[in-house]
Parts: sequence; C-alpha cells; structure tokens
Amino acid sequence: IDDLVRSVNGGEIPEEESTGAWQEQVTSGRFAGQTVIVTGAASGIGRATASRIVREGGKVVAVDISEEKLEEFAKEAPEGSVIAVAADVTKQEDIDRVVSAAGERIDGLANIAGINDDFSPIHETSDEIWDRVIGINLTGVFKLTRAVVPAMLAAGKGSIVNITSEAGIRGNASGNAYTVSKHGVVGLTRSAAFMYAKQGIRVNAVAPGGVATGIPFPPNVSEVGSARLHPFQSAIPTLATAEQLAASITFLLSNDGVNINGAILPSDGGWSVQ
Ligand code: NAD
Repeated sequence: IDDLVRSVNGGEIPEEESTGAWQEQVTSGRFAGQTVIVTGAASGIGRATASRIVREGGKVVAVDISEEKLEEFAKEAPEGSVIAVAADVTKQEDIDRVVSAAGERIDGLANIAGINDDFSPIHETSDEIWDRVIGINLTGVFKLTRAVVPAMLAAGKGSIVNITSEAGIRGNASGNAYTVSKHGVVGLTRSAAFMYAKQGIRVNAVAPGGVATGIPFPPNVSEVGSARLHPFQSAIPTLATAEQLAASITFLLSNDGVNINGAILPSDGGWSVQ
C-alpha cells in the first residue's frame, strides 16, 4: 500500500492529519484566523455567506458595487471582522484594491456577485446586455481568480468557490446570456481545479436553484418569445433562503471540503434531478 501511495503522490507518503478527539472536529470556528474575499457581499447569497464566515471566526473582505448597502452591512458587523471594499468586479483597478485590502494572506475567495439578463431571445439580445452579463458573471470570476491565485500559491493552499446556477448545468433554466455565463463558470471551475490541484488550491462551484433574494426571476414561458423556459412555479421544488446557500458555500470553502475539488454542487432542493 505504501508503494501505491508513493506512486500516486510523487514518491511521498503524506503525513496523517491528527484524527484528534471528537471535540477538535466540530465545525464552528472553521474560518478562525482566515481571510476570505466575498464578492456580491452587500445582499442576498453573498451577504449571508459573508456573515456566516464572520460568525465562524473569519475576517471577510466584503466586495460589492453597491457602496451604500455594503457600508450598511459592514456597520452591523463585529469590529474588525469586515473590510468593505466598494468595487466593480469587471474593473481591474478595483480588483487590485480588493487584493491589497486583503493583505498578504488570502485563504479563500467566494465569487458570488452576479446579475441576470433581460430574458430576451438571442435574436433580440443587445451587445450591452451580453457584455455586461458575461463581464460580471464570468470575466469577473476569472479576474478575481487570477488576482488571488499568486497569494494562494505562495501559501501552498487556498479555496475558491464560484456560484454557477441551475442555468449553468442545462439550457432551459434562464435567459441566454445568463445561461452562457454560468456554463462558463462551470468550465472555469473545472479547469482551475485541475490546474492547481497539485499546489493545494481547491476550486469548486455551487449551483443554486431558486433562492429568495433581490435577483429577478425569469418570467413564465409565454413571456419569453419562442424560448422555452421552465415554468418556475411548478419546476422548483422549493425556494431556498440565502442562508441555506451560505451553508453549502462555506462547506466547500472551509476545510470540511478538503477532498473536494472541481465539484459542481447543486444546492437546489433536488431541482436538477427532475
Ligand atoms: P443579489 O442581487 O441579491 O446579489 C448580487 C450582488 O452582486 C448584489 O449585491 C450586487 O450589487 C452585486 N453586484 C452586481 N454587479 C456587481 C459588480 N459588477 N461588481 C460587484 N458586485 C456586483 O442576488 P443573489 O441571488 O444573492 O445572487 C448571488 C449569485 O447567485 C449570483 O451570481 C446569481 O447569479 C447566483 N444565483 C442566484 C439564484 C437565485 O435564485 N437567487 C439562482 C442561481 C444562481
């Protein structure tokens, strides 16, 4: 067995992690001493994730384009637990400010900022909608990943969680630009997971179904031209809360997800199995 382990691990037998007493394995305080960047932190899933990380002992660099809502969130947080950085994830100079606000240590990144499209059929989709949706939902995730990886490589560890969607796994769950952007996030997640697997960086994604937040839902089938979207009311088994999504995201982000890399985890109450 030792030979087998050596052949897979480049000649090394990894040291056993302490199995410890059961008390050491409880999950509260999972982010103690860690710094995690959370985008989209001013509302919905991002806000719930940022507050959960803080409640579990971490420091959050909270990023959002909505300065007012971000300040409101930071004001309510315990002293020193949140660094609020008003930033647009599509702008490189804003991302540079985010990374320098985090300092040398970046343990985690949760790419949650996102917008929906206008549900127009492809032949009526404007360049503006396409560029904005792809720019925030996909290129923004790429740019932030690019910006944090050097610190994670230097530390030899790091965890990134991206938010895709039911619309990242199939074609009939939302509008076109959004669907394309979220499929792109799946590809980016898998490619990055493979690329950095041997260097201690895990990259995973969570695919929510319907979540009760401020983001607009697709209208019903009849209102979307010839595009056949799922009629939401009957297709979604349950509308989740932002806190339920935060539970899935922090599971992968924390060391509880230690052996999970490149996974696209549906967190949708079972919608994707229908
Ligand atoms: P939300 O609108 O409550 O939160 C999104 C946040 O992103 C907002 O605070 C917004 O200001 C911020 N944001 C938008 N553009 C930005 C930019 N350029 N730079 C920085 N921040 C920006 O919506 P939510 O439902 O919490 O969505 C969070 C993520 O979950 C999104 O990526 C969304 O696509 C995804 N998602 C949501 C659902 C759902 O049903 N709510 C389902 C699947 C996936």
